[in-house]
Amino acid sequence: MTFSRRDFVKSSVLGAVAAGVGAHAALPEALAENSQQGHASKEDSPKRPVIICAHNGYAYTEAAYAFLKSGGDTLEAGIRVVKGPEDDPNDDSVGLGGLPNEEGVVELDSCCMHGPTRRAGSVGGVRNIKNVSMVGRAVMEHTGHVMLVGEGAEKFAVAVGFPRENLLTDRSRKIWLLWKEFNSDRDWWEPGMADPHWHPPAPDSKPQADLWRDRIQQLQQRAADLGIEPEFQLAAVHRVLFPPTGTIHCSVLNDKGEMSGITTTSGLAFKLPGRCGDSPIIGAGCYTDQDIGSAGATGAGEENIKVAGAHTIVENMRHGMSPQEAGMDALKRIVRNYNGDMTKLRYMDMTYYVLRKDGAYAGVCLWEGYSPGNPHKFTVHDGTLRSEVATPLLKGYSQEWPPFPPIPEELKKDSYYLK
Ligand code: ASP
Repeated sequence: MTFSRRDFVKSSVLGAVAAGVGAHAALPEALAENSQQGHASKEDSPKRPVIICAHNGYAYTEAAYAFLKSGGDTLEAGIRVVKGPEDDPNDDSVGLGGLPNEEGVVELDSCCMHGPTRRAGSVGGVRNIKNVSMVGRAVMEHTGHVMLVGEGAEKFAVAVGFPRENLLTDRSRKIWLLWKEFNSDRDWWEPGMADPHWHPPAPDSKPQADLWRDRIQQLQQRAADLGIEPEFQLAAVHRVLFPPTGTIHCSVLNDKGEMSGITTTSGLAFKLPGRCGDSPIIGAGCYTDQDIGSAGATGAGEENIKVAGAHTIVENMRHGMSPQEAGMDALKRIVRNYNGDMTKLRYMDMTYYVLRKDGAYAGVCLWEGYSPGNPHKFTVHDGTLRSEVATPLLKGYSQEWPPFPPIPEELKKDSYYLK
C-alpha cells in the first residue's frame, strides 16, 4: 500500500487549522443552548419503573421492561438489555464481534452494581468469554472480590460454567487486518513488492482532497480484496481511519425503588493489549446507590476515569442537583481537565445516562453528536419505549480521532458514517 496513517497525521495540524477547529473557544460561548436548564418534562412527573440505556439497547428494552414489571430483579433486567448487543455479532462495540485489540484479540470489560444488596462486580480485559456482563455479576455473587482481570477472570468464568468461544467474527477480523495493513508501512504486514498492485508511495504534491480520495479508494479496494461485503466496505474504512469506541450502559429502577446499573464493552478498537477503559471501573463506567440514583457512561474512557464520572454524578444528585445538572457537572470536569481547550476537546466525546431514584432521568453529552442530523441518542422506557436525544454541554460536533485533514464532502456518504 502506498499510504499510511503517518501520511495523514503529518498534515493534520494544517488541516485542523484550515477547518477552523484550532481556536481556543471560550467555554461560556461554546455552551449549547439547553445545557444549563433542567428538562422539566423528564424531572417533574417521573414514573417508575424506568430503564435508561445507550441507544444500542433499544431492541432489547421492551422485553426487559416486561420482566421488571413482573417483579424481576433490577440487575437481571439490566443484563437482559446489555446481553442483546453482547450476543449480536454485528454490534462491533460489545461482546461477540467486538473490534479486537492491536494484536487481533477481542478483550472485553464490564462492571455492575446491585442496589438492593449494595454489591458490585467487575471484570477487565477478558478474552474468549462473550457475556462479560454476567461474568461481572458472577464475580459479585460467587467470590469475595469485586474485580477480576485478564487470564484470572477468564479462568474464573470457565470455572463457573461460561463457555469459551472465539469472539472474533470474520468481519471484525477483516477490519482488524485492514487496520493492521494501513498502519504497517514499516513492517511486513501488507502485500510486498512482489504483489502486482504494489507501487511506491505517492508524492504529497496533490491537493488534500485528491489525496483523501486516493487513499480512501485504495483502502476500499483492499477491503474488497479481503472479502468485506460491498455495502460495508466504506464503513470498514471508517473504522480503520477512526478506531471507534462503543459500549452499552443500562440503569434500572423498579416500582419498589430498587436500582441497579451495568456497563459492558469491547472498549476502544485496536487498543493496546491489557488496556482497560472506564467500563469495568466502578465509579467511572457505572455507579449505583439506590438511596440516590444510578449513572453510567459511554465515550472516551480515559477521560471518564479521570473524573470518576458515574460516581461524581450520583454524588452530585446526593447533594441536590437534578439528573441533568449532575451530568453536566461531570462533563464540565472533563472540559476543566483540558482548561477549556476546544482544540483538544473537539476530539473526544462522552455520554452520561443518569437515573434518579424517583424516576427522573437525563441523557447528557459533551458535543451535539457526530455530525448535523446525527445526534447522540439514548433509550428510555418508563411505560413507553422511546429514543431521546441527549442534551449536549457544548455547541457543535465532535471530530474523530486521529485528527486527519477535512474529508471531501462527496466522501461523506451515509455508508461512510455507518456506525
Ligand atoms: N468507554 C469505552 C471505553 O473507553 C468506550 C465507549 O464507551 O465507547 O472503553
